[in-house]
Amino acid sequence: MIVLAGDRIRRIEGWGMAIGAAGYLYRPGSLEEISDVMDTARSTGVPIVARGSGCSYGDAAILPEGVVLDFSEMHRLLAWDPATGIVDVEPGVTVKQLWRHTLADGWWPPIVTGTMEPSLGGCLAMNVHGKNNWVRGTMGDHCLELDLLTPAGGLQTISRQDDPELFHAVIGGFGQLGLITRARMQLKRVHSGLTEAEAVAAPDLGGLLQRLDDAKDDWEYVVGWLDAFPGGKKLGRGLLHFARHLEADEDPDPKTSLDPTKQDLPGKLFGVVPKSMMWRMMKPFTNNLGMRAINHAKYLHGSLLADGAVYRQSLAAFSFLLDYIPNWKKAYLPGGLIQHQSFVPVAEAERVFCRQLEICRRRGMPSYLGVLKRHRPDDFLLTHAVDGFSLALDFPVIEGRRDELWAMIRELAEPVVAAGGRFYPAKDVALPGELYRASFHDGELETFSALKRRVDPDGLLRSALAERLLEH
Ligand SMILES: Cc1cc2nc3c(=O)[nH]c(=O)nc-3n(C[C@H](O)[C@H](O)[C@H](O)COP(=O)(O)OP(=O)(O)OC[C@H]3O[C@@H](n4cnc5c(N)ncnc54)[C@H](O)[C@@H]3O)c2cc1C
Repeated sequence: MIVLAGDRIRRIEGWGMAIGAAGYLYRPGSLEEISDVMDTARSTGVPIVARGSGCSYGDAAILPEGVVLDFSEMHRLLAWDPATGIVDVEPGVTVKQLWRHTLADGWWPPIVTGTMEPSLGGCLAMNVHGKNNWVRGTMGDHCLELDLLTPAGGLQTISRQDDPELFHAVIGGFGQLGLITRARMQLKRVHSGLTEAEAVAAPDLGGLLQRLDDAKDDWEYVVGWLDAFPGGKKLGRGLLHFARHLEADEDPDPKTSLDPTKQDLPGKLFGVVPKSMMWRMMKPFTNNLGMRAINHAKYLHGSLLADGAVYRQSLAAFSFLLDYIPNWKKAYLPGGLIQHQSFVPVAEAERVFCRQLEICRRRGMPSYLGVLKRHRPDDFLLTHAVDGFSLALDFPVIEGRRDELWAMIRELAEPVVAAGGRFYPAKDVALPGELYRASFHDGELETFSALKRRVDPDGLLRSALAERLLEH
């Protein structure tokens, strides 16, 4: 039996480094070790938070004075069938491990996040989406079954056929309804390791949303970047990137492009500057003036030189833009960064996002990075997706303005609720619980609570995020 020991105490942070808490860190390597930790937690009355790669921006995988059950040591691919593209993984297997294992056989994860570091357990617990949410749905849509360890029910396998209610609530249930100890996923067939991509500029938010919407059925991947600094007629101007997989007869050398070692992102910028040093070079620009200039330059380059450009890019290079500069988040130290991602139905999106950008400008806290995506609804109980668009906004946390920033997030969220929108817990840290709860209208939270009472009646599984967002 493992005993909660002082030497296990670590400070665990959210990915954005703006929030953290001390907890007892355990890295189990097997089911038996997880059960031991659960028994210990139960007998000592200390709750548990599950943790994958720790890529959630805020407080999803932290719990003050709790047991942090970190799955990073459970990272074995248990079974892989290159004929069907079905894979069984332990929860700590990362998106990166997965595609590097399967690409040479012609399979790619149907959903990938902007970084390849997240674990599959964490991706399912948050039901992550990619740049192809409109076409492919979420990670949960490609999950065939899960092994789930719950405090009340022990280990069980759940799927769309076997306990569908629990299956659709565990996926996207941010670790509150059990520990995912194995997942079976269906991957997507690809015939090349290359994409064909197109870049398009739009002078304002209306144009950006319209072009994103127009492209959503013609391309596998659609994503927008916006410059959150200018106002007036330039409010929400930005660039769009569309991409599709190359077909078998389009790639002259698929064997090479499907080789995972040929997908590696370059280690140096312009072939000279080691990328590991880049975040230090970003630091002097990580303020309102510097970021205004960078966003301006990016828009000018995209609209004057690259508008309409069509080019080929490796799958990894197109998909994992946020991995280009290792540790770029450190440029935001000492305060770190937060992100707020809201999802708004099509008809209201332009109005709500314009208002959000205006609020940021009025408060003098512009977003340093704004990303737009197109989404479709899905069957998962606490889904964040709607038939609409999402806007993800990054903000630096500046000492002395923290309360103001948190108050601004409330102000950004209010019109989202009024418009029938939703929020994404993986990116959140500052959303007031009452606004999160107000975004559900059909008893979803009551159903979730009933399931919680069934599988975890003593509330052993907790997180700082769940304490903030859910009613107890
Ligand atoms: C740079 C960057 C880009 C991103 N881009 C995207 C994107 O494009 N799309 C998107 O949807 N998200 C994106 N994210 C968010 C990220 O994909 C999610 O936060 C994801 O959940 C992270 O997985 P993780 O393994 O790090 O999980 P963690 O952050 O460690 O945990 C996430 C949640 O899962 C729970 N959990 C973890 N493992 C288990 C388990 N085995 N069983 C039960 N519960 C578990 C935790 O308790 C927590 O609630 C991005 C994040 C970063 C940092």
